[in-house]
Amino acid sequence: MNSNKINTKCVQAGYTPGNGEPRQIPIIQSTTFKYDTSEDMGKLFDLEASGYFYSRLQNPTCDMVAAKIAALEGGCAGMLTGSGQAANFYAMFNICECGGHIVSSSSIYGGTFNLLAVTMAKMGIEVTFVSPDCSDEELNAAFRDNTKLVFGETIANPALTVFDIERFAKAAHAHGVPLIVDNTFPTPVNCRPIEWGADIVTHSTTKYMDGHGSCVGGAIVDSGKFDWMTHADKFPGLTTPDDSYHGITYAEKFGKEGAYITKATAQIMRDLGSVQSPQSAFILNLGLESLHVRMPRHVENGQAVAEFLEGHDKVVSVNYSGLKSNKYYNLAQKYLPNGGCGVVSFELKDGRAAAESFMKKLKLAAIETHVADARTCCLNPATSTHRQMTDEQLAAAGIPAGLIRMSCGLEDKEDLIADIKQALED
Ligand SMILES: *Cc1c(COP(=O)(O)O)cnc(C)c1O
Repeated sequence: MNSNKINTKCVQAGYTPGNGEPRQIPIIQSTTFKYDTSEDMGKLFDLEASGYFYSRLQNPTCDMVAAKIAALEGGCAGMLTGSGQAANFYAMFNICECGGHIVSSSSIYGGTFNLLAVTMAKMGIEVTFVSPDCSDEELNAAFRDNTKLVFGETIANPALTVFDIERFAKAAHAHGVPLIVDNTFPTPVNCRPIEWGADIVTHSTTKYMDGHGSCVGGAIVDSGKFDWMTHADKFPGLTTPDDSYHGITYAEKFGKEGAYITKATAQIMRDLGSVQSPQSAFILNLGLESLHVRMPRHVENGQAVAEFLEGHDKVVSVNYSGLKSNKYYNLAQKYLPNGGCGVVSFELKDGRAAAESFMKKLKLAAIETHVADARTCCLNPATSTHRQMTDEQLAAAGIPAGLIRMSCGLEDKEDLIADIKQALED
């Protein structure tokens, strides 16, 4: 299965039915699993045998879908979580506890920024934010003795910056820590960070993977390439006995390829419990089955809309890494040769009022906080997510009042452009 191309993996990886078994992945809607003897069950609790006992830890439907996502990313193991927020938190907290430090790109999703800067700070975890465009000197200076990981987003939501994965992976590895990349926007169809040196990949499956705005969810994939034992002093959670699991040392018992996801499941998920439901996993899998067909259309529509807007006299600037004028065009050519995603942002000349009137006139594009959906949607941060800020504060934060983020869906691009064109008319 792993030698298959990504298109085939989208459709078939993660589940191969036996003779007479269901063709579609079964939804195992059961909290618990039955055993003949307590001895059988005991072995599961001791992680001596693999099997299911309680759906807070593992569920067969969720595991099949996680295995598909791991195969798509070229990783060795994966797990689903209840949301993208849970995926990023678990991915980091699995290897960074109180007293630890994280180097993160400053250009990341607002929810992840809050998670790091506010909530994880309250847990005694420190973070240093660096610009994704920082110099090598600035990047190296961000590391400390207690740094445990580096974090970034392949294409950042909403800034749409492109992350130089190879450069950040090299810096992380030079300091003996892994690189975690949130690959939500390009999806593995357009970029596979592990091929560029990332060690762990996370997703908000809520976005393109589900792709229909149906289910909130997340996923974590481990490359199995990071050698925890070589840096044993930095990662005691993986390299010393876990008292809450009968003294198991994950990196010894499960090796490079098994340690990280086993600990994240057996310890972090056991204790924090942000599971994805088997129903949601089933719906997510329906999305994954067409991901390779949908992503090129999202890119085609994003590119066409970006090019149209770039030539319009009411538009000050367009931010889309598929445009030659874009600051990240060269990085995008390297990491995203087939395009990035369908999300475009642009600034209208006459600020807040122009944005408000433009969005009111749109007929196909709906006003939503969502992105990465089959249906085109858009948002003006100044009148929604950032409405408490004045025009001056917005400008200082790099979010002009006339900025609009548009997530191009799967409609016909000529219809989308016609809709935008009429909405821009006086
Ligand atoms: C939406 C998003 C998240 C958070 O995911 P949820 O599923 O909403 O919890 C994290 N990272 C990125 C890049 C996102 O776009």
